[in-house]
Amino acid sequence: MLKIVSIPGDGIGPEVVKGALEVLNAVSKTHGFEVEVEEHLFGGASYDVHGSMLTDETLEACRNCDAVLLGAVGGPKWENLPHDKKPEAALLKIRKELGLFANLRPAKVYDALVASSSLRPEVVRGTDFMVFRELTGGIYFGQPRGYDENRGWNTMVYERYEVERIARLAFEFAQKRGNAKVTSIDKANVLEVSQFWRNIVHEVHKDFQEIELVDMYVDNAAMQVVRNPKQFEVIVTSNLFGDILSDISGMITGSLGMLPSASIGSEHALYEPIHGSAPDIAGQNKANPIATIASVAMMFENSFNMPEVAGEIYAAIEGTLADGVRTGDIAAPGEAISSTTEMTAAILARI
Ligand code: NAD
Repeated sequence: MLKIVSIPGDGIGPEVVKGALEVLNAVSKTHGFEVEVEEHLFGGASYDVHGSMLTDETLEACRNCDAVLLGAVGGPKWENLPHDKKPEAALLKIRKELGLFANLRPAKVYDALVASSSLRPEVVRGTDFMVFRELTGGIYFGQPRGYDENRGWNTMVYERYEVERIARLAFEFAQKRGNAKVTSIDKANVLEVSQFWRNIVHEVHKDFQEIELVDMYVDNAAMQVVRNPKQFEVIVTSNLFGDILSDISGMITGSLGMLPSASIGSEHALYEPIHGSAPDIAGQNKANPIATIASVAMMFENSFNMPEVAGEIYAAIEGTLADGVRTGDIAAPGEAISSTTEMTAAILARI
C-alpha cells in the first residue's frame, strides 16, 4: 500500500492535482497495487480555515506517508501578510521540516514541442537530463552573513556529509538510468569550497566506478546547456549554481506548465510542479496538468523504484502531445486549445 499525502493548495493547484491523482489511480489499477491518498490543507487554503499556512496536522501527515504531492500555494489574497506568515515561508518550512536536501528538476524536451523551445529544434531535440541541486546548504544558509553601509557578505560553506549525500543520490539515480554520465558542476578554479566539493564527489564516485564522472566549471556549464544540452545526462551541483542552472535547463524545454520537480531527503520526498498558483487562470479549467502528472512519474522513479510506471506515464504524455492535444500555454497560434480536464482525459486514455 502506497500512502500519498495530497496538498492541492491554492489557485490552479487543486485543478492540476486532481488530474495527477487520476493518473496515479489509473496506474495503480493497471499495475495492481493499492494507493491511499489523504488530502490536507496548505497555503492560503489552510490560512483561511486555521489562520496558518502550514498546520502541525498537515506537517505530521507529510511525515507519515510515502510521498507528498503538492500543487501550488499563494495568490493575491495572501500577498500582504507579514513575511513569516506568507506562503513562501510555509514552503521553506515544509522543505526544512522534512529534511529535503536535494531538488531534482528534469530538462526533458518532448518531440512534439521542440518548436516551442527558445533554442533551435536541432539543438534541443532529444534533450533529457536531470539536475540535482543541493537545497539546504551552501551560500544560502552559511554564516556569517549580513551587510552594513559599506560591506555585504555571505559565506559559502559545505560540510562533508552534505556533499556526500547529494553526490550519492545523483550517482544512484544515474545507475537507475543505465549508468548515465554524471556532470558535477563547480567553480573549483576560484573557490576553495568548490575544490572541496569536487574532492568529495570524486571520493563518492569510487563506489560507482561504472559511471562516467565529468567535472565542469559553472560558467562553462551555463554555456554548454544552451550550446549542446544533449551532452548532459545527470548534473549535480551546489545550491546557488543549481538554482540558476535548473532554471536555464528547464526553460530550454518550453513552458512552465510542463516542468515537474522532486525534493528529496533521507526519509521524505515531496513532488510538485515548478509553476505557481497561476491566479490569472485559476478556476477556469485552463491550466496545463502535465507538470503535476510528470511529478507523479518522478514519484514512481524516485520514491517507489518503479521506473517502468514512470516510463508509462511519460509515454502517455508524449503520445498525447504527439496527437496534438494542447492546453493554452503550449498551443501554437491557430492550434485548438484543450482544457485541463480534456488534457487529463487524453493522457488517461493512453494508460
Ligand atoms: P505562476 O507560475 O503562478 O504563473 C506564471 C505564468 O505562467 C502565468 O501567466 C500563469 O498563468 C502561467 N502558468 C503557470 N502554470 C501554468 C500551467 N500549469 N498551465 C498554464 N499556464 C501556467 O507564477 P506567478 O504568477 O509569479 O505567481 C503566482 C502565485 O504563485 C504567487 O502568489 C506566487 O507566490 C506563487 N508561487 C508559488 C509557487 C509554489 O507553490 N511552489 C511557485 C511560484 C510561485
